[in-house]
Amino acid sequence: MRSIEPEVFLVARPKVDYEAVAAYLREVGGERWLEKLDRDQLGNDAQDLAEFAGKICYRSWEPGLNPNVRKVRDDQEVYLRNILKQAHGSVLEHASFSFVLHNVSRVFSHEVVRHRPGTAVSQESLRFVRLDELPFWFPGWAQQDAELMKRATALLAELEQFQQWLAGHFRLDDDGVPMHDKKHKTSFMRRFAPEGVATGLVWTANIRTLRHTIEARTDPGAEEEIRLVFGKIGEIMRAEAPALFGDYTVTDGTWIPGWRKV
Ligand SMILES: Cc1cc2nc3c(=O)[nH]c(=O)nc-3n(C[C@H](O)[C@H](O)[C@H](O)COP(=O)(O)OP(=O)(O)OC[C@H]3O[C@@H](n4cnc5c(N)ncnc54)[C@H](O)[C@@H]3O)c2cc1C
Repeated sequence: MRSIEPEVFLVARPKVDYEAVAAYLREVGGERWLEKLDRDQLGNDAQDLAEFAGKICYRSWEPGLNPNVRKVRDDQEVYLRNILKQAHGSVLEHASFSFVLHNVSRVFSHEVVRHRPGTAVSQESLRFVRLDELPFWFPGWAQQDAELMKRATALLAELEQFQQWLAGHFRLDDDGVPMHDKKHKTSFMRRFAPEGVATGLVWTANIRTLRHTIEARTDPGAEEEIRLVFGKIGEIMRAEAPALFGDYTVTDGTWIPGWRKV
């Protein structure tokens, strides 16, 4: 048994092609918006993409382009705050972030896949990937309980030995065992792994989904591992896109947004 901690790695974020944006803006006479790049008022790609998607809606690159628009919000933070306030959340769906959620359990993965719109999931296959050891997360309060740890580690050690015995019994490492046989037996073997076995997945979500899931999954009623992981995701996102995640108040690990259900 290997004791592990759930970890979050941000592996991909949006990238704006400012030259293509400039070419489009020249077409519609909105180049002035991009001048903000030179003044360091743009440059956070996720936030810029959200602002760009929002401004296309009213052609509000500058006053007068749309005769109905006399005033535009120049300051990005102010503009995006208004998007959140107005719950104009569809513009946040253009920016997606991909995370490796490493050393998370199948308890976690069963729950995270319940969030469907705006997500993509690729999970380690325990039909293909054979378990020999059983990596396992113990929360701090469990680690303090000596009797619990003694019994739990003994149980996990026995389950690990059973995995190894099964692999030998099925002769999975003999030369020439076809992959479909290995898959068949590996899938049978995983039934004897606990739901808490640590595994991993790539989880991608757009900003609208991230805002909703960070709130839902850090709620005091949420399961403790998913709370821990979504707290980490919240910290990452607040650093990545402060104008879109700066409205949360965080108290005892609970993330409460200033604007809900955007
Ligand atoms: C504390 C907690 C306890 C839970 N306990 C259980 C449990 O005991 N058993 C269980 O089965 N599940 C449980 N769940 C899962 C829960 O029921 C949801 O399936 C899960 O949280 C996904 O969130 P969501 O419904 O907001 O949907 P998401 O997929 O995150 O969608 C976001 C939003 O989009 C809208 N939406 C999504 N899909 C649809 C749709 N098909 N039709 C209309 N609108 C849609 C809704 O407004 C939704 O809130 C629990 C969740 C939490 C946070």
